[in-house]
Amino acid sequence: PFIQPSDNATITAADTGHVFHSWSAQGALAPLPIASGSGVKVWDFDGKEYLDFSSQLVNVNIGYQHPAVVTAIQEQAARLATIGPAYANDARAKAAQKILEHAPEGFHKIFFTNGGADAIENAIRMARLHTGRDKVISRYRSYHGNTGAAIVATGDWRRIPNEYATGHVHVFGPYPYRSNFWATTPEEDSARALEHLERTVVAEGPSSIAAILLEAIPGTAGVIMPTAEYMQGAREIATRYGIMLIIDEVMAGFGRTGKWLAHEHFGITPDLITFAKGVNSGYVPAGGVMISDPIAKTFDDRVFPGGLTYSGHPLAMASIVATIEAMESEGIVENAATIGETVIGPRLEAMAERLDVIGEVRGVGVFWAMELVADPATKEPLPAAEMGAIKKALMDHGLLPFIADNRIHVVPPCVITADEAETGLAIIEKVLSER
Ligand code: PLP
Repeated sequence: PFIQPSDNATITAADTGHVFHSWSAQGALAPLPIASGSGVKVWDFDGKEYLDFSSQLVNVNIGYQHPAVVTAIQEQAARLATIGPAYANDARAKAAQKILEHAPEGFHKIFFTNGGADAIENAIRMARLHTGRDKVISRYRSYHGNTGAAIVATGDWRRIPNEYATGHVHVFGPYPYRSNFWATTPEEDSARALEHLERTVVAEGPSSIAAILLEAIPGTAGVIMPTAEYMQGAREIATRYGIMLIIDEVMAGFGRTGKWLAHEHFGITPDLITFAKGVNSGYVPAGGVMISDPIAKTFDDRVFPGGLTYSGHPLAMASIVATIEAMESEGIVENAATIGETVIGPRLEAMAERLDVIGEVRGVGVFWAMELVADPATKEPLPAAEMGAIKKALMDHGLLPFIADNRIHVVPPCVITADEAETGLAIIEKVLSER
């Protein structure tokens, strides 16, 4: 029977009885049931309020239940709830146009996907077909999504241009706090990381490398801020060897860093840009690839061997248009920048001064990570059991955190006010002080 919304225990039991959850052993799961949300807050079925410092999976940039976005989805559903990707549709054309208004010069085409992983799949496919090369260089400390086998398992002709499950090469990127290059400054770390990247390109054979794939700012890996020199150097290496630079903006894009796209911080122009999450705050699943003109031109006469049933789904498209328009008219990107500069950054720095457990804080906009350590001298990560206890304490105090490894990521919605940010940071400080 259908489970009527009632209380936490009932909903959790109904969920774990039948829902198979991501990235988890299923046996001991007790997911928090969420009944509703508004702005930066959500409520469980027992009525407890949480301040969301996670934006779920760092995607609810515009906050919960933004009325303009909800209305746009309702109106589109009432008019045309679904239409296939081969048809022309007003909402889809408008969504592409709104996204392109925030893309770099020289980008005039968008390929829509259902989320981030398939955006990456298709960006890689475009780079491979455009260059006629195979390998993709990405970083060890990165997350790009959870697909890859589906098209190779496919039996019909669509498999053949896509049989490329091999050819992935990884490099270490800059990470000054735990430098892989024995560096003592961010500049030295960047310079050596770049040399490592170029030597890898040469050793692998430049004529075999289709793409260098980099998150604009590695997110799940720890909001590891690159220097502009590293990103500009990677751009130069890609250009020098005829390699496409794919910048993954799935997590960092659409306001999170206080700019529309995070790569703008570094003064570079990618060849392909992947996006999802913040483009519509996940109100309807959506993602895509922004395609620079030379790559788009490759497919003027040549068939692009890729597609998805729900590419450019009208409900997703209507939500993208409404989200971007609301972000523009309400100054949401600017708000993210200001909150980072005036509240989160200074408060985290001050906390790190006071508390030995904080090894480093880093970030920009509403995209921050605090690295927790057992010993500031050795930088030994705080053990998982302690991180679990911290997570529980934060939730008991009404904060929804984003915890990864030994880090607390401070990633609230971009619409957060200074007061709300202060409230959440005070909870973090209290929990870390009392542990
Ligand atoms: N790329 C980045 C940088 C991400 O952070 C993520 C998800 O966290 C993805 C790609 C995959 O996106 P999705 O989960 O929508 O497939």
